[in-house]
Amino acid sequence: MDSLQLLIIGVLGFVIVLAGTIFIARRRLLPPAPTRQLPAEPTPSDSVEPPAVPTDEPEPAPGTTLERPEAPTTRMARLRRKLAGSNNPLARGLLSILSSDRLDADAWDDFEATLITSDLGVGPTQELTEALRRELSIEGVSDSAKAKQVLRDELLKLVNPSFDRSLKVEGADGKPGVVLVVGVNGTGKTTTIGKLSRVLVAEDKSVVLGAADTFRAAAAEQLQTWGDRVGVPTVRGPEGGDPAAVAYQAVQRGIDDGADVVIVDTAGRLHTKTGLMDELGKIKRVIEKLAPVTEVLLLLDATTGQNGLIQARVFAEVVQITGIVLSKLDGSAKGGIVVQVQRELGVPVKLIGLGEGVDDLVPFEAEQFVDALLSE
Ligand code: GDP
Repeated sequence: MDSLQLLIIGVLGFVIVLAGTIFIARRRLLPPAPTRQLPAEPTPSDSVEPPAVPTDEPEPAPGTTLERPEAPTTRMARLRRKLAGSNNPLARGLLSILSSDRLDADAWDDFEATLITSDLGVGPTQELTEALRRELSIEGVSDSAKAKQVLRDELLKLVNPSFDRSLKVEGADGKPGVVLVVGVNGTGKTTTIGKLSRVLVAEDKSVVLGAADTFRAAAAEQLQTWGDRVGVPTVRGPEGGDPAAVAYQAVQRGIDDGADVVIVDTAGRLHTKTGLMDELGKIKRVIEKLAPVTEVLLLLDATTGQNGLIQARVFAEVVQITGIVLSKLDGSAKGGIVVQVQRELGVPVKLIGLGEGVDDLVPFEAEQFVDALLSE
């Protein structure tokens, strides 16, 4: 090997070493390759992770009631559970006619007896029985689905789906709607007012309660407890004070506060008809110096049957009832009272009470009621 060859090998070796050194130095100086900087592909679970930063949702103020009434579907399920065949003699009686092999005179007599015991009333019972006898003798009960449809249609006619059952809680001219709640003590007035306020508050309505039952300290106390629970003010007066004065102050408070609805509880003392008439008449007159009463709800305890009807008649004579609340339908075999009381007073049942729980007040709807009765 001559010196030229040695020189070439030397230069080549130097170039290789230099190139290697430069390559290593560049790797050290450059930032990591962009592909290594990319975040990992999001996995499905990442996309449903709650954000780490706080949301704009305001924290509830201490003591704020954020309760919401349960969804209508849950309430319907409850209605069905409480009125359905196995729990309710009226429903059982109605369904029994569908399962009879032979519709002889005895079967129809039994059917009528059950309807009368469940307070459907003599007139409606006869109408229903005659209509069914007529229809089923043509159709026969061999097709039970068809027979049930006939029974449903006839019941629905009796319950009268054409009534306007909406609650009149809207005021006019910037004034609140005023709901006067009347009925004998123990029928469920206070409880119903509490449950109703809860529903209204959930609809973003502002409510004021008036404890115009000044005869029983416990009544005002109980109403206030409901008011506090739902987060609405309760206007009270001195025990034994003038109920009309409390009603007036409650409506005045509603106007001053710009409230949507004022609900006034009253004493249900049936001492004498004139006494009751004087009391309720005065309350209504005094309220109407400030704002019209938009709804007068009469509470009837469904378990009291014919007694309840007698009460209803008395109240209807002293004040113009615009809606009926039928309480305690859960513990009653007497769902038929719905039909009788509507006929007697010509006023619709607007709400029904199905228990002592906060969500046990349900808007009355003819079709749902009949379907609940006929569900097995
Ligand atoms: P008021 O005297 O008319 O105000 O009647 P209350 O509201 O004090 O109710 C009397 C009782 O009936 C209370 O124990 C309530 O819990 C109960 N009550 C009210 N409504 C219903 C209902 O729909 N079902 C049942 N089972 N009990 C009810």
